[in-house]
Amino acid sequence: NVLANQIAAGEVIERPASIVKELVENSLDAHSHRIDIIVENAGLDSVRVIDDGDGIAKEDVAVAFRRHATSKISSQHDLFKVQTMGFRGEALPSIASVADVTLTTAQAEQNEGTMIHIRGGKTLVTKPAPARQGTDIKVTDLFFNTPARLKYLKSPQTELARITDIVNRLALANPAVAFSFTHNGRELFRSAGNDNLQQVVAAIYGVKAGRKMLAIQGEDNDFRINGYVSLPELTRASRQYITITINHRYIRNFELTKAIIQGYESKLMVGRYPLAVVNIDLDPVLVDVNVHPAKREVRLSKEQQLTHLLSQTIRKRISVENL
Ligand code: ADP
Ligand code: MG
Repeated sequence: NVLANQIAAGEVIERPASIVKELVENSLDAHSHRIDIIVENAGLDSVRVIDDGDGIAKEDVAVAFRRHATSKISSQHDLFKVQTMGFRGEALPSIASVADVTLTTAQAEQNEGTMIHIRGGKTLVTKPAPARQGTDIKVTDLFFNTPARLKYLKSPQTELARITDIVNRLALANPAVAFSFTHNGRELFRSAGNDNLQQVVAAIYGVKAGRKMLAIQGEDNDFRINGYVSLPELTRASRQYITITINHRYIRNFELTKAIIQGYESKLMVGRYPLAVVNIDLDPVLVDVNVHPAKREVRLSKEQQLTHLLSQTIRKRISVENL
C-alpha cells in the first residue's frame, strides 16, 4: 500500500511546487480565508501551509491519508461536475508516502484538535492537540525514501521559481483569499484577500503593471468572463504572464491562451504577449478536469464558442480604449 502510494506520488508529486499546489488547493477546498505558505530552502527542507479553513474531524484525520479517501466526491455523477480543486483523494497519501508529514487540525465547534505524524507512509503518532480552527500541515524530508526522485530535483533557485509561480497563480485565481508566502524567513508575497484582483496583479507584477490593466467583462448563455488584460503597450516576452482560471481553478489550455492573444489582433509586436488574468465562470458539466492527475490541463465542451467570446471581449475592450 505504501508502494501504491509512492507510485501515485510519481504522478502527483514531482517536486516541492507540487506539494505547495496540493496543500493550498486543499486549503481552498476547505473554505479558507487565510492561507500562509512557509517554505525553507525552496521546499527541499520544508513546506508548511497553515489555513483557517474547515479543519478535519478527529475521526477523519487518519482516513484523509488513505488512498482515494476523498471527502469531496460521492458518486460517479459528481465526477462530471467537479466543483472542488481536489477529488481524487491522492495528494495526502502520496505526499505522506515519500516524506515526513505533521498535520494539526481542528474544526470550529470542537474543543480539541488532532495531531498526526506520518513518515514514509507509516503513522508514528496520533494525539489530541490544542483547538485552533483550521489546518497546519508541514512536510519535511521530501523523497527521503525515494532517492532516485530526489536526484531529479533542480537547483534551489529553479525549485523556488516554480513554487513562486504556483503561489502567484493561486493568489490570482483567488483574490478573495489572503495569501502570504515566506521563504527562509523572508516574506516574498502577501495579498489582502479583499477580492481586489487588480491589487493582486499589482502585488505580483508591479504597481505600474497593475495600472496598465484593463478590466474586461463578457458573457453569453454558457460563459461569464471577468478579469484584467494589459494595454497593448504593456507586453512581455512570454505567454507565461497569461493566467486563465475556470471557476477560480488555475488551468492551462492552449486554445484559450491563443484566443486572448488574438483579441489583440495586430496590436502586439512579434514575440510579445499580453499580461492577462482571466477567470471564466461556467457550469462544471462543460469542463472535464479529469484528464491528468495534476489536473492542470482541461478539456472543454463548446470550446470554439468560448474562444470566440474571449477574443471578442478583449478586442472590443481594447478598441474602446484606443478611441
Ligand atoms: P482530495 O483533495 O482529492 O479530496 P487529498 O488527499 O488532497 O484528496 O485530501 C484528502 C482529504 O483530506 C480531503 O478530501 C479533505 O477531506 C481532507 N483535507 C486535506 N487537507 C485539508 C485542509 N487543509 N482542510 C480541511 N480538510 C483537508
Ligand atoms: Mg487535494
